Amino acid sequence: MRRIVIAGGGYAGLHAFAEIRKRLGPLIRSGEVELTLIAKDPYHTYHGWTGEVLSGRLSVGNTLTVLPTLLRGQYVEGEIGRIDAERQVVEITTPDGIHRRLPYDHVLVATGSRDPFSRLPGLAEHGWCLKNTRDMQRFVDHLRTFAGKRVAVVGGGMAGAETASALRERFRRLGRDVTVELITSGDLLFRQLHPRFSRLAAAGTRILERQGIVIRRGARVASIGQHGPVLENGDLVLADMTVVAAGVEFSPIAGLERLQATPGGRYIADPFLRACGQDNIWLAGDIAEVARPFGGGLCPVDALWAMKQGELAGANIARAVLGRGIRRFSFRGLGQAAGLANGSGISELYGMTFRGGLAWFIRVCYFAWYMPRRTDGAAVLRDLFADRLAEAIGGLGAMLRPAAQGRKSLEAAAERGRAP
Ligand SMILES: Cc1cc2nc3c(=O)[nH]c(=O)nc-3n(C[C@H](O)[C@H](O)[C@H](O)COP(=O)(O)OP(=O)(O)OC[C@H]3O[C@@H](n4cnc5c(N)ncnc54)[C@H](O)[C@@H]3O)c2cc1C
Repeated sequence: MRRIVIAGGGYAGLHAFAEIRKRLGPLIRSGEVELTLIAKDPYHTYHGWTGEVLSGRLSVGNTLTVLPTLLRGQYVEGEIGRIDAERQVVEITTPDGIHRRLPYDHVLVATGSRDPFSRLPGLAEHGWCLKNTRDMQRFVDHLRTFAGKRVAVVGGGMAGAETASALRERFRRLGRDVTVELITSGDLLFRQLHPRFSRLAAAGTRILERQGIVIRRGARVASIGQHGPVLENGDLVLADMTVVAAGVEFSPIAGLERLQATPGGRYIADPFLRACGQDNIWLAGDIAEVARPFGGGLCPVDALWAMKQGELAGANIARAVLGRGIRRFSFRGLGQAAGLANGSGISELYGMTFRGGLAWFIRVCYFAWYMPRRTDGAAVLRDLFADRLAEAIGGLGAMLRPAAQGRKSLEAAAERGRAP
């Protein structure tokens, strides 16, 4: 029997899993191949809807796909403590404290990334972050009772802009005047966009400014304090609440010390998505540093690239099991999108740029399509479009009582919430 273990149930892990099941289905059913996915949380989180959750238009539950249901018996819940590359064994601890050893012939390391706790001292104690779903749920709960007047959002990329815009919308719909300050170390926002899309980034920045977001440029945050972010020059940005959406960091896995890694802890993949010099250790997603096919630096650290890398890693594992030749990673990219409040946004698709309502619509449909289950994507579309429709229909009434309208729809969204 050949054993394949996927370490991680994020975008990369799930796409690899689907690809292997598609290609090796008969061998899995006959017991010749065993496919197992290990993840420490029993759900996959779709981070693309972070803004919608923060604004109160979706619940945290809308972003979750339950892994045991999706993976039908091929899922093991547990924290990976070590991958013993010599003995080809993954060592895990299950939630009830039992240590298990899962042997493998091929292992895919797709353990992703985490919020930048080591890079930003004070984040765990004084800040709020968004990558981990439990942290996100705690933050959403905190927002329901937050009574402050100033919010600082750290991070000038897509996630920072979406977060600032969503929080401003949330408070506006509640009829509250809360200052949202977006802090970026550079001069430009939406830093993931290629420089040739600088006009699109500028359009996104104008949308944020029109929404009343205060943008503080050239400010590098050194730590998070009790009263707000502290900048490298020693200045304090006064805030009642600090949210960090400023990149991620990586946790190395014990036992994989012999793999080539960056100083930041990402494992370096070859063009076939194997760990350099290894035949049976594969890499995909945030944890993997992958050169962009056809030159031009490194692959972006985002969900789309994680999915595509997962797909190829899964296909290559299946090819290796079948004794066939493996293929190079050749994805060129599709585009980028940021969802901003009030049904607005910016997006770039195959080099074409969109802004405003059309950008919002394209992004929402595209993100829903890429959710792990069609039913989850359909539920999100139903909730988002129903919300917008209700707002449009309520527009006449809202002219008479705008604050009440906002409160009602926010509470409705909160009631729909399903905590993880
Ligand atoms: C706020 C926010 C918004 C974002 N918005 C977007 C967006 O709009 N579009 C976009 O493309 N990207 C977005 N991203 C980026 C995207 O979320 C990541 O690129 C993506 O999650 C990477 O997928 P992954 O599979 O590599 O890892 P992850 O999704 O991080 O999954 C890692 C998996 O590994 C498991 N795991 C980790 N360590 C262990 C361990 N020791 N033992 C067992 N299991 C373990 C985890 O439980 C999880 O199942 C956003 C990120 C954030 C933080």
